[in-house]
Amino acid sequence: MYTSFQSLMDDVAACEKCGLSKTRTHTVFGEGNIHAPVMFVGEGPGRDEDELGRPFVGRAGQLLDKMLASIQLTRNDVYIANVIKCRPPGNRDPEPDEAAACIGYLRAQVAFIKPRIIVCLGRISAKYILGQDIRITRDRGVWHEAKGFFIMPTYHPAALLRNELLKKDAYQDLLAVRAKLRETGGLTR
Ligand code: SF4
Repeated sequence: MYTSFQSLMDDVAACEKCGLSKTRTHTVFGEGNIHAPVMFVGEGPGRDEDELGRPFVGRAGQLLDKMLASIQLTRNDVYIANVIKCRPPGNRDPEPDEAAACIGYLRAQVAFIKPRIIVCLGRISAKYILGQDIRITRDRGVWHEAKGFFIMPTYHPAALLRNELLKKDAYQDLLAVRAKLRETGGLTR
């Protein structure tokens, strides 16, 4: 149990609970508005994020900014985090034991921020947040209700960089997020 957001941040910064602590340059805690009604959660830091200690700062991050802008949001309106706080070498998927060691930090972030909506960016994020294996092409855009949260998987921006044809569906998902924000009172403009 954390008594403050800062103590949670401090714990992550010093964490050595899994082997990724040995290969990381920086932990990547997350950033944004800690009163945000919506969290966007990716899988884990990539090379740029590991170097800078900030989430979604590479090409995928620039696209995420554009995705937010497409529904009239900025990083100041949302909170951005990852399931895993340290970069898996070579951008491999996190191992289950690494995710198990780290997921408590994300849960604690969610407990502090108390968003109404959680958007899972990509299959791995959805797997650990929803607790089930999904196929992102089939299961994206579907709302799940759990423990008072509305949770939706959609494409990771890196997938959209690899295949531009997916952007149309991703935009539909973002419009649904905006509509849900309005419906849940999280959007006043
Ligand atoms: S990935 Fe998570 S559990 Fe592993 S060392 Fe980093 S912060 Fe700790």
